[in-house]
Amino acid sequence: MRHCNSVFKASDIWFLSDSEKYASRRLYIANCPICNKKIALYSYFDTSSKAYFEQYFYSGGAVRIKEKLKKDILTTMLGFKTKYKAPYGFKYGKNVEIKKDGKIIAIEQYACDFWGNKVLVKKIQNEKE
Ligand SMILES: [Zn+2]
Repeated sequence: MRHCNSVFKASDIWFLSDSEKYASRRLYIANCPICNKKIALYSYFDTSSKAYFEQYFYSGGAVRIKEKLKKDILTTMLGFKTKYKAPYGFKYGKNVEIKKDGKIIAIEQYACDFWGNKVLVKKIQNEKE
């Protein structure tokens, strides 16, 4: 995030549910370390124009966009961090097929999270092998 000619990290990130028009919606929240202004950066993918957009909100505007979007929160970075240690909570499952000579000999089930962490949950061997 940027303000006062400085670049800094968000203190929290809200992951928001998809709306009719927008996907991959996130709200980055921080206080500027220089001027201490409240800052929110709303980023989303516009499904009709197929482009990403970013919009900054400051002070009262940042408070208002937070009020507006808080009903759409799926999870937050801080919520993840306090609830789980690494990896930060399981977000989705992923199956990986292990092949040998073109045949599937096993399936590994992973739990993946937003940060690219991957944990093997279960390995299923093909009975026929
Ligand atoms: Zn500033």
